[in-house]
Amino acid sequence: MMRVSVLRIGHRFVRDYRVTTHVALVARAFGAERMLVVNAEDDIKKTIKEVNERWGSYFEVREISNWRNAIRAWKDSGGKVVHLTMYGINVDDIIGEIRNDGKDLMIVVGAEKVPREVYDMSDYNVSIGNQPHSEIAALAVFLDRLFEGKQLKHEFNGKVKIVPSGKDKVVKTDGAS
Ligand code: SAM
Repeated sequence: MMRVSVLRIGHRFVRDYRVTTHVALVARAFGAERMLVVNAEDDIKKTIKEVNERWGSYFEVREISNWRNAIRAWKDSGGKVVHLTMYGINVDDIIGEIRNDGKDLMIVVGAEKVPREVYDMSDYNVSIGNQPHSEIAALAVFLDRLFEGKQLKHEFNGKVKIVPSGKDKVVKTDGAS
């Protein structure tokens, strides 16, 4: 199965804390294995660590010093880079090719204006529709299309587990407080 990392660029310290945390939460829940970010705040790492401990998985938030080097290293190791942008090719017109390629993927999402270089360095510039919306939504839809919805049934083997219910909150606990 292809392995997926998310590269969050343009994170503004403090101001983007909540959005970047949600990018990480979506990445984790929808089948990626790490998020790379310049200026990763300790609070983001702590939040994700606590989520992992309680809900399962080894999702990693890794601080990097330079996103260009991270993209180059990814490509050098044989992976492909997908940049999510409203200017790109519609996801439904390219997702089959990306999936069939089967290469590990780095998915780049921005915060504020994304440098031109990112468009050039990426193997695919992909839009989730051609309207402006959000990096959190764009990432969720892309991963859902990529994994064809299968990630929503993934077992995380955490200390707590929700038993789906149409009416009640049913949670099974395995030694967690
Ligand atoms: N105005 C910025 C620009 O021109 O690069 C984008 C800011 S937007 C709030 C933040 C990020 O959300 C973008 O960098 C992109 O990754 C993602 N995004 C927003 N709308 C999108 C869309 N329709 N398709 C794909 N990604 C989108």
